[in-house]
Amino acid sequence: ELAQLDLKALVRTIPDYPKPGILFRDITTLIEHPEGFRESVERLANAHRGLGVTHVAGIEARGFIFGAGVAIALGVGFVPIRKKGKLPGQTIGQNYALEYGVDTIEIHDDVLDGSHRVLLVDDLIATGGTAIAAVGLIRRTGAVIEHAGFVIDLPDIGGAEKLETEGVTVTSLIAFE
Ligand code: 5GP
Repeated sequence: ELAQLDLKALVRTIPDYPKPGILFRDITTLIEHPEGFRESVERLANAHRGLGVTHVAGIEARGFIFGAGVAIALGVGFVPIRKKGKLPGQTIGQNYALEYGVDTIEIHDDVLDGSHRVLLVDDLIATGGTAIAAVGLIRRTGAVIEHAGFVIDLPDIGGAEKLETEGVTVTSLIAFE
């Protein structure tokens, strides 16, 4: 078997973005690398085979990039979770707290129901606030969500642990301490 690619080395760190003091983990360098992009998607898909997943839900915007690939790899459909006002059909929304203020994410109200099992995908989990809001939204449709996959986890911030206490098993490919 071939040696596994060092995915972590393909993520670029940009200091002081979007604000002074923040170390932004930039996945554009990972997705620009053909094997890096493919391997990220394949590893997230392979971790979730045989679970009866019927849909992948991805969070705007970088969750679309990886989630779309994972959906294709698993042979299931893709459901976008978007910022307020972006989806054209009837939606349900969920507010969540940001460091300063609140934001709202939305999902179409007619795509998921109690017969569905959803895998949530995003590029990165930090506080877990975004993912927990997405899980809440998905559960309000009646669908089951028990698994979430992230390319990057920031374990010191504790979001993945928090998501696990919500009954969601978290898989991540890279950790930045
Ligand atoms: P959380 O809600 O877990 O605190 O933040 C995660 C969300 O913010 C994800 O949707 C993710 O795309 C974005 N995010 C926060 N920090 C970073 C970062 O350093 N790099 C990237 N690529 N996304 C980030």
